[in-house]
Amino acid sequence: MSSWASKNLSFAGRLQLISSVIQEITTFWCSTFILPKKVIKEVEKLCAAFLWQSSTESARGAKVNWLSLCHPKQEGGLGLKSLMHWNSIRVPSDASWGGRKLLNLRQQARKLIKHIPGDGKDIYLWHDNWHPSGPLVENFGARIVQDSGFSSQAKLEVVVNGNFWKRPPTHSPQLLDIQIALCDRLYPKKRDKDTVIWIPSTSRTYTTGRTWHWIKSKQSKVPWHRLVWFSRQIPKHSFISWLAILDRLTTKARQKKWSPNIDDTCVLCNNGSETVEHLFFKCTYAKCVWKSLSAMSEIPYLDSWQQLVLWMGKRIRRKSLYQTLIKLMWNAAVYHVWMERNRRIHQHVYKTTGESTNMSTRQQM
Ligand SMILES: [Zn+2]
Repeated sequence: MSSWASKNLSFAGRLQLISSVIQEITTFWCSTFILPKKVIKEVEKLCAAFLWQSSTESARGAKVNWLSLCHPKQEGGLGLKSLMHWNSIRVPSDASWGGRKLLNLRQQARKLIKHIPGDGKDIYLWHDNWHPSGPLVENFGARIVQDSGFSSQAKLEVVVNGNFWKRPPTHSPQLLDIQIALCDRLYPKKRDKDTVIWIPSTSRTYTTGRTWHWIKSKQSKVPWHRLVWFSRQIPKHSFISWLAILDRLTTKARQKKWSPNIDDTCVLCNNGSETVEHLFFKCTYAKCVWKSLSAMSEIPYLDSWQQLVLWMGKRIRRKSLYQTLIKLMWNAAVYHVWMERNRRIHQHVYKTTGESTNMSTRQQM
């Protein structure tokens, strides 16, 4: 990674190296061992430092935290793998050491296993996940075992009668609920063996990929992911749009939060505090760019940056050539407005709105 850091790679290039090389190597090791948390934290720290700072020293200045980057693109992240989650679902081949670790994962794995009743000889009546309500002792308490008169280690076969359930008379409201929940839903099959299925997989057998999707915490989808991430995207443009939409660009208004004395006036119009909303929407410079692009496309003039992003995300999401061109133009416009702002601040070079618009449209042709 140190040798990569010395090369002048773009953010998109660094992201590609992390997702295709580093993460593949690490997932290989995760499939052999359950790595200690400290090792995983160290690997993730290195990846973050390389991604944001192009170094192996520190990720200071990271604009988005690592866990958020590991959300899928539809949920606003960059689709990297969280090694912490990945590591918890791989089965280690080193049973002597990994076996001990596996024991700690049993509780997590149990929730993902479902027992399908056959003859009821292999399923534990109170502890296994066969009933529509889940494991009975877990959900109804140990008292129901006493109330039922069956032992706590009883197998399901004690309530199986051929292809039907035995329903012993009971005064316990909870046992009645358990019996009622079984009506019309599920029946044992006398001739079959009990089976076990892995809930996360459509094939019902264990696969690492499906389990990872199941186990990682799900975020709600963002409506704009197709606006930013699509097959013909220009990675450096998409990256700036992604940061702008998440409001993670280092605008002057954001800098002012930790350096109150900074002058946060917009350098494009010299009128107004430089927020994302201002820079990409309210600013007269940005307005001129959008107006020119609106004249060439179906992008309407809306009330705010957020509305514009929402409208674009909802309306411009197809893969047609026309919509792809609009998306390319839109991302390029956001990129060039940001570049113009950077040029004025760092190089004191000025380009007109016409030049920025031309650059936004020319690159797509
Ligand atoms: Zn401005």
